[in-house]
Amino acid sequence: MLEIINLKASINKRDILTGLNLKINPGEVHAIMGPNGSGKSTLANILSGKKGYEITGDLKYKGENLKDIPVEQRAQKGIFLAFQYPLEIPGVNTNNFLKTSLNTIRKANGKKEIDTLAFLKLVKEKANELGIDEKILSRQLNVGFSGGEKKKNEILQMKILDPNLVILDETDSGLDIDALKTIADGVNSSRSKDKSFLVITHYQRLLDYIKPDFVHVL
Ligand code: ADP
Ligand code: MG
Repeated sequence: MLEIINLKASINKRDILTGLNLKINPGEVHAIMGPNGSGKSTLANILSGKKGYEITGDLKYKGENLKDIPVEQRAQKGIFLAFQYPLEIPGVNTNNFLKTSLNTIRKANGKKEIDTLAFLKLVKEKANELGIDEKILSRQLNVGFSGGEKKKNEILQMKILDPNLVILDETDSGLDIDALKTIADGVNSSRSKDKSFLVITHYQRLLDYIKPDFVHVL
């Protein structure tokens, strides 16, 4: 699914990653741990296509050279990043955001757009599974959401978009134990032979709930 060969990354002449190797096969869950500042978010950002880094080394996603895939196409091809700090986007309704994201990906993959009724049924079902209060879905994206609601909303997005490579950047930090369990349940119930996970975390406790196949330390 993902192969990283001797990845070096720097920003503003500061070296952050200095030769990272990682191979994730379909169906595997890998955890990456490491202290603050060790480059965990940098790795997540590079995989999702954030600009500004000087990169050398090889990155392959489903056999394709990832560097050749523009950002918006990375999502369309099944890469999903749950942000460490989900952005608040005033003026954008959460339901509309989720529906537009889903339909953009469906269209890019030659599938029919999902209509409003079918979407609402889907989003309600997934929100209920995650114990998300449906009321937040009609609010502006992440605006005024609690920390836990923001992170659960990232997992809801993951459930709806149904990606192949899921990157979770400290989705567990700052959560109480109930929210942490919700996040872990969301991941565990999504595990399948054609989906891979890169779970970035600062804390051991998430790994009590998500049992990774491999643990790496940066
Ligand atoms: P982590 O997620 O493991 O805490 P990050 O990947 O966020 O670490 O950051 C790694 C290092 O890179 C940190 O020391 C951070 O200050 C530095 N860094 C990140 N972005 C920039 C930037 N735009 N300019 C300079 N240094 C940066
Ligand atoms: Mg980070």
